Amino acid sequence: MTVTLPGHTAPAAAPGGRGRTRSVLVIGAGIGGLATAVRLAHAGYRVTLAEKFDHPGGRAGVWRSEGFTFDTGPSLVMMPEIWQDLFKTVGRRLEDYLTLVQVDPAYRLHFDDGSTFEMTSRLNQLVENFEAVEPGAGQQLLRWLRDSGILYHGGVKFIRRNMHRFTSMLNIGTMGPFGARHALGDLQAFARRYFKDQRLLQAVTFQALYLGLSPYRALGVYGLLGFSEAAGGIHYPIGGMHQLSVALARLATELGVDIRYQTPIARLEKSGGKVTAAITADGQRLTADVVVANSDLPYTYEKLLEEPLPMPSRMAPQFSCSVVLLYLGVNRTYPNLRHHTLAISESLPASCKALFEEKRMPADPPFYVVATTRTDPGQAPPGCENLFCLVLAPSQDPARPIDWKVEGPKVAERTLERMEAIGMPNLRQHIVTQKIITPDHFTSAFGNLRGEAFGLDHGLTQIGWFRPHNRHPKLQNLYFVGQSTHPGCGVPIVLISAECAVERVRQDVPV
Ligand SMILES: Cc1cc2nc3c(=O)[nH]c(=O)nc-3n(C[C@H](O)[C@H](O)[C@H](O)COP(=O)(O)OP(=O)(O)OC[C@H]3O[C@@H](n4cnc5c(N)ncnc54)[C@H](O)[C@@H]3O)c2cc1C
Repeated sequence: MTVTLPGHTAPAAAPGGRGRTRSVLVIGAGIGGLATAVRLAHAGYRVTLAEKFDHPGGRAGVWRSEGFTFDTGPSLVMMPEIWQDLFKTVGRRLEDYLTLVQVDPAYRLHFDDGSTFEMTSRLNQLVENFEAVEPGAGQQLLRWLRDSGILYHGGVKFIRRNMHRFTSMLNIGTMGPFGARHALGDLQAFARRYFKDQRLLQAVTFQALYLGLSPYRALGVYGLLGFSEAAGGIHYPIGGMHQLSVALARLATELGVDIRYQTPIARLEKSGGKVTAAITADGQRLTADVVVANSDLPYTYEKLLEEPLPMPSRMAPQFSCSVVLLYLGVNRTYPNLRHHTLAISESLPASCKALFEEKRMPADPPFYVVATTRTDPGQAPPGCENLFCLVLAPSQDPARPIDWKVEGPKVAERTLERMEAIGMPNLRQHIVTQKIITPDHFTSAFGNLRGEAFGLDHGLTQIGWFRPHNRHPKLQNLYFVGQSTHPGCGVPIVLISAECAVERVRQDVPV
């Protein structure tokens, strides 16, 4: 059966679609797909969104059990101004949809020697915290903030540009700040210009892990992540991170987007240099003038198009790392926990080598624990705690795949022991509900080819023009949005990916 989406050739059937001339099918209601749908609907396109699951948000989902609420993926809101921008662009106010609060301290770091370090955006306190670890580091912090701030502002300018032309990357306005501040050098070398103590070096570089990237192989430019946290703060939406997805889905619906849940796309039909239809798992043909795939880009090429992934660099694609996640409902509280608590061991460089180069599970991978009840008590029953624990894990090496059915429970057990050791005594005796997620989940749920959690890697050969472009090289009406296309991974970054994709659609196929 062929279903012609509103605006393609048939009259409008969707709310808000009347009078609009161009139709768009967005595949996937991840943050990137929802933001694309919102922007295009506001610009006058008739937008239909097909999502395989029965809820919005993709990785930013929710799991509820026994009165506990768990965010399934992201836990930190960085760059809230990007959220403000999106809502403002479509004539709304973010605060009418969400209550974002700043989490302070942003997190506590636990080191092997039992010492801790807190990151905060209160400058006087932050100077004190740095100084307490290394005499003189308080002053150095100010220099680091100045220089990483330059990287941040240059970086944001860079990622907000479409990068399908090589020359866009070389534009002096975008590259200028990078050259001046060793952005294309090594992240550790950048940090060592300011600090000597290993703990401080880790505190200002571990954020590369947010992108699924080793801080020991990352470019200096990723120093901007530490700046973003320290200067902009870390935020949280009351009700949980999933509220971000709910807010976007509500906004999309208000703007007339026809969201169709439980509509998995099985393949894309192509002819004459175009996608002619998206075929659903139950055989419907959905047609539209433009198709925007928010499904992970390598999966979309390999499985939906049955084509090899075109890497502009012509190098084999590199995948980010993965995670093992533990969602733990416990019938007691751990008042010493911060909203975010990270455990970093001295062997972080060796762990990163195992995770990123050898693709094997290290004995003591970095992990972090989120207790949203610190900010939002309604996330667990009274007197209880909803602990989310993220443990870094390798993505799969096809030559030596890990059997996660065997390895997953072992990782979970070792992690529970380590959690007990950093201040959650007898944790195992207090668990009343739990779920363990392994890298297999990212393949089965989201199609990630190597079980990677954060999409394609963000090394030098996979950023800017070198990252797979947000329009198919041959199929003129097929665009991509989300963490494996430009600019990359992270909630605010996929919002920017939507900005970039929408800019191209609007230029190529004006409404
Ligand atoms: C564990 C974890 C922790 C993270 N922590 C943070 C954090 O703290 N802060 C932060 O900023 N970022 C974080 N991230 C990264 C961030 O969550 C992602 O970069 C972002 O959510 C990706 O959004 P997306 O739109 O690219 O895609 P996705 O979330 O992958 O959404 C894609 C959507 O497409 C749908 N889909 C796929 N295939 C099909 C199909 N064939 N038919 C129909 N629908 C389909 C999927 O169901 C999904 O809804 C984290 C990620 C993970 C996994």
